[in-house]
Amino acid sequence: MSIRKVSTAGPVKAVTKRKAKRPLAVVASLICLVGIVMCFTPGWVMGVVLVVAGLAMDSVRRYVCGACGNRIEKTSVMCPVCQTRLGK
Ligand SMILES: [Zn+2]
Repeated sequence: MSIRKVSTAGPVKAVTKRKAKRPLAVVASLICLVGIVMCFTPGWVMGVVLVVAGLAMDSVRRYVCGACGNRIEKTSVMCPVCQTRLGK
């Protein structure tokens, strides 16, 4: 990965991307699937609940530093471990 540095005053740290991970993606899709199937059964109310729960779980995002893999917040602008600036 090549990043062209823009020269500014002072030492410029490398810029890396935040990596978004979906730790619950597999579980969430399974719950969604079960929910969809249940929508066609007398227990469809529970099915709808499962689908909504599955979608909510799927939207869980975890962010890590693209340089060192340290877990960071979505709003972090710099990795606290390797001091790398975090771009978009
Ligand atoms: Zn880092």
